[in-house]
Amino acid sequence: MPDRGAAERALWKGALSPTEGCLTLEELERWSDRRLPDRAKANAHIARCPRCQTELAMLREFQSAATHPAEADAVSWITADLERRFAEHCVRLTLAVGSASDRNHR
Ligand SMILES: [Zn+2]
Repeated sequence: MPDRGAAERALWKGALSPTEGCLTLEELERWSDRRLPDRAKANAHIARCPRCQTELAMLREFQSAATHPAEADAVSWITADLERRFAEHCVRLTLAVGSASDRNHR
C-alpha cells in the first residue's frame, strides 16, 4: 500500500524537522564529546527532542568505537535513556500509522 509509506515519511519528516532549539550536528558531536559549553541546556533540549535524539543516536554509531573507557559508563546511561525514549517514540509513531492504515483495511 503506497500511501502507508508516504504517511510514514510525512510523519518522520515532521518529527525530525529541526526546531528553533535544535542542535546542529556539529554541536551534537561536541555535546557527545563533552566539549559543548552549554551542556545543561543541550541536555534539556535533547531529552525532549526526537530529532536531536535521532541525530545523536546516528552520531553515536560512528563514535562508539572511539569512546574512552573512563567515559563509557557515564555516556552509556545517558544514551541508554535517550535510546529508550527514542524507541518509545518510534513505537508510538508506528502505532499511529498502523492504526490509521488498519481502519482503511477493515
Ligand atoms: Zn532538537
